[in-house]
Amino acid sequence: MAGSSAIDQNTCEHREIGVRRWTEKRRARNDAAKIIRQAMVEKAAACELCGCSPLRPNRRLPIGMSQLCVHEIANGPLRSRAQDKPYATLVVCWACNGELNNKGQDHWPESRQLAVLAMVRPDDFDLKSYNELVNPRAPRRITLFEVFEEMVEAKDRTGTARLFTPDDVAHVMNVNRKTVRRWIDGKQLRAIDVAPPGATKRHFRIEPADLRAFAKCRESMSEDDFEQLVGEVQENWQ
Ligand SMILES: [Zn+2]
Repeated sequence: MAGSSAIDQNTCEHREIGVRRWTEKRRARNDAAKIIRQAMVEKAAACELCGCSPLRPNRRLPIGMSQLCVHEIANGPLRSRAQDKPYATLVVCWACNGELNNKGQDHWPESRQLAVLAMVRPDDFDLKSYNELVNPRAPRRITLFEVFEEMVEAKDRTGTARLFTPDDVAHVMNVNRKTVRRWIDGKQLRAIDVAPPGATKRHFRIEPADLRAFAKCRESMSEDDFEQLVGEVQENWQ
């Protein structure tokens, strides 16, 4: 009997050491995430949803509600993995954070939050990484089309569109800027030339609705078929 109690004690000790190590690891990860989150808040400087900040507070609310924090777009158990990932978070004021958390998925589905991210921080938008982070195995994937659809709806609500530069589109669609230019030249992606008359260089801007139409065509085709189509259209165009 004495022997078995010694084993028990050993197992317990091992378990305790294991738990301690795990807790230390978690604490270290949380501390590292805290620094990254603080840097994200400082970089954003204003709420990515309503534009308020401690320097430009929303006067209709108590002053503390304009403090900024990092909100994880993903819900549930994967939240802690998302906490220091710029592609899976929004910097928002406390008031907006409350709205995002309380109104839930019906009002603020992930695709709508990702649309905000794509509009305010196209450099950080990375749908592939987001899908891998929140849903590594399951087939449920948020598509670019869904995100662009939310952008168009956001425009309908506010009446103003955030027009994209080819660089923005390159970031958002995770491609080279030359590829975007090829899509525009090949008439695959509709773009408006906003250069003043007589300018030698063309300056393109892209509407969210045109991005949506483009994504729909692209996502319904395989990558190879799509590239072939771009090639064919370009050949006929020249
Ligand atoms: Zn806000």
